[in-house]
Amino acid sequence: MASLTGHSYPPALDASLERDRLSQTIKDWSIANGLAVRPPPAFVGQNQDPEGILAINAPVTLFPSPFPKSCFEEAKAIQTSYNELYSRISQDEEFLGRLVQEVVGGDEFIAKLWNVHLRVKEEGYVQNLSLGLFRSDYMVHQDGAHLQIKQVEFNTIASSFGGLSAQTSLLHQHLAQTEYPLLNEPIPATSLNLPTNNSAQGLAAGLHAAYQAYGESTLSHPTCVIFLVQDGERNIFDQRHLEYALQKSSVPVFRLPFSQVLTHTTLADTPSRQLLYHLPHNPSKIFEVAVAYLRAGYGPGDYPSPEAWEARHRIERSLAIACPTILTQLAGMKKVQQVLATPPTLASGPSTLGKFVPDPAKSSALWNTFTNIYPLDGESAAGQEARRLATDPVECQKYVMKPQREGGGNNFYRGAIPEQLKTIPEEHWNSFILMELITPPPLQNTILRQGKLEQGGVICELGVYGTCLWDQKTGEVKHNEEAGYLLRTKGNQSEEGGVAAGFGCMDSIALV
Ligand code: ADP
Ligand code: MG
Repeated sequence: MASLTGHSYPPALDASLERDRLSQTIKDWSIANGLAVRPPPAFVGQNQDPEGILAINAPVTLFPSPFPKSCFEEAKAIQTSYNELYSRISQDEEFLGRLVQEVVGGDEFIAKLWNVHLRVKEEGYVQNLSLGLFRSDYMVHQDGAHLQIKQVEFNTIASSFGGLSAQTSLLHQHLAQTEYPLLNEPIPATSLNLPTNNSAQGLAAGLHAAYQAYGESTLSHPTCVIFLVQDGERNIFDQRHLEYALQKSSVPVFRLPFSQVLTHTTLADTPSRQLLYHLPHNPSKIFEVAVAYLRAGYGPGDYPSPEAWEARHRIERSLAIACPTILTQLAGMKKVQQVLATPPTLASGPSTLGKFVPDPAKSSALWNTFTNIYPLDGESAAGQEARRLATDPVECQKYVMKPQREGGGNNFYRGAIPEQLKTIPEEHWNSFILMELITPPPLQNTILRQGKLEQGGVICELGVYGTCLWDQKTGEVKHNEEAGYLLRTKGNQSEEGGVAAGFGCMDSIALV
């Protein structure tokens, strides 16, 4: 902590009175301002809440965590370059196809996604516009006295928490004004440098740009944006904040469970294949879907049956602008991140990153955020080295092994890597990547989770949102913006950081 702030921060709280006071303030502010989630069934059983009316505070830190200003500014400054990079990757079907072939042996889910793309390609895509609501995740890496951001992963589908994150920044600003100055170890109201965070507005602006680019319905229907969501979504208010922001700009928005796409949508019988949404509560009302925003469909659990794959196929072949398309979703494979981060060799020719981002200033700024990531194939020199590191009981302690998955809880850390590899046939090892662990400077904070305070060492992960709308055929970029940030914090005993997965909590940044 002192390494980042130079003094005691967050302040030690005076006995239980101050802790109670802060908790109570946060509990009320959070519900009053929608910094909330639906309770997990293990916490509030269905019998206690049969009507599904309860909401609880999203887990959150009592204080904003200190974060180096130079790191924050760097991460924000390069977001539009990251948007450009991933829009170009998404346009390179041949590149993605090659990587898909490398992982499909051990990964049926990726194979099925790819098949949906191939089916649509065969009949021809009718929509060339593609929308990305991205989030690039980082941790601060400490190398001696030098602090720099290193990328954890790049999300191209269902990048979440933009809604709650903006509220968390507001909560900490509120506490900085009203509560921290009154503590026994006071923090004067103006002393914390809390950056504004427009993540909800920023993401909504991306959706709005795509909505406008779609244009008017040639079938004379009103147009709309549709959020495709998971059944029983508990992180619903995060999504609602985006919906409300869009509705404020008079855009009709509807939520549709991904599992009900086939029931409540049809494709117009025209060469354009407009996606029509039939209001479930008033089926005579028909909207034409301009933008299909997926907050579902990123993992195998969302595809329990062949019908779910048909639903994804319907979205992909329709005129609706997909956020994301299959190709954009696949651009987010960890395999892509690994290939970008693999240094060029004489044998491999120029770097993949340089091919997608020819501007040397931009590509070197992106390159600086990469950490070592290896393939796990049995042929390449990098793959063989990675196999040695991953199976060595000492070396493996510095690594995390990741499959091509999203949503948290899928990775293998340190000593679990060799164990896991033993259970997988060697020819399938290449569907994983091996990544060096980033070790951020130790910090202290207190987390309020389900009414209980947890105090101790924490690790912070920064996410920077980006929105990008581009034409897959011409490469023209129609909208490219940095769109606010997320800070997630977890106990330093936990490897995983997902808030929804129950490991992390919401936080915001105090610049130092
Ligand atoms: P997912 O797609 O499931 O979110 P991530 O790559 O984001 O997968 O990994 C999940 C979590 O694991 C991250 O939020 C972070 O806490 C931790 N993690 C992942 N990669 C690293 C790394 N290289 N160094 C340290 N922690 C990591
Ligand atoms: Mg992640």
